[in-house]
Amino acid sequence: MRLTNFKNLNNKKLIVFDLDGTLAETKAKMDGEMSGLITRLLGQKKVAIIGGGKLELFKHQFLSELTAPKEFYKHLYLFPTTATTFLRYHNSWKKVYAHNLSKSELKQIMSAFKLVFKEINYAPEKKIYGKTIENRGSQVTWSALGQDVVKILGKRGVALKNEWRDKNTPLKMKVAMHLRKYLPGLEVHAAGHTSIDITKKGIDKAYGLKQIEKYLHVKIKDMLFVGDAIFPGGNDYAITKTKVDYVPVKGPEETKKIIREVLTK
Ligand SMILES: [Mg+2]
Repeated sequence: MRLTNFKNLNNKKLIVFDLDGTLAETKAKMDGEMSGLITRLLGQKKVAIIGGGKLELFKHQFLSELTAPKEFYKHLYLFPTTATTFLRYHNSWKKVYAHNLSKSELKQIMSAFKLVFKEINYAPEKKIYGKTIENRGSQVTWSALGQDVVKILGKRGVALKNEWRDKNTPLKMKVAMHLRKYLPGLEVHAAGHTSIDITKKGIDKAYGLKQIEKYLHVKIKDMLFVGDAIFPGGNDYAITKTKVDYVPVKGPEETKKIIREVLTK
């Protein structure tokens, strides 16, 4: 249920965050203030992060900036590539599970992209930064401007992605819709600003929440989800299929306000 009243937030046992656009600006690093707030939160609660990016991106955006002492890591759970992989910390990051795509699924996905782009006469962007289609093991991700646009251009890359999203979201939805036609056995998510994620069927952020419940023995009603894309078509929207309490945010600054509400004074 969407929460509008933040009075009892500190009763929650586990806080689940989306990463990109929620804890950090898109593909950018989390800032120092956020790191401090997450550290305080880890001292009081369990924290899980479910993002579309791969583990390397979690390391780049989040772990490399996190100043929390290592003993707090036992309260931190990572779900990269849309919860297709679950990691927890025992002296180092250990996989609890990973649902990797098979070779034949990967082949199907690549040919589906070719067919769809031809079918809708898709004209690729003139300037591409890095790969547009990336195999992340348990997920294949298409990014219209290339995977590395922010890595290469920094803030200008973020602006370009925002611009692309504002102009081309209907196009992205169309690509996703056509992909679903060719990939009925797989899950196609129109995900972040410029990207589409493909995973095994039935894996989305709602699946992630259920896995947290199963592995960490925390009931969904004792969780709070915070994300920047909890709207139809957004990659956090799946969590509304569960009974989780959630707060939509516009970006990291709003997330910080929510964390301050959750922290016991
Ligand atoms: Mg997001």
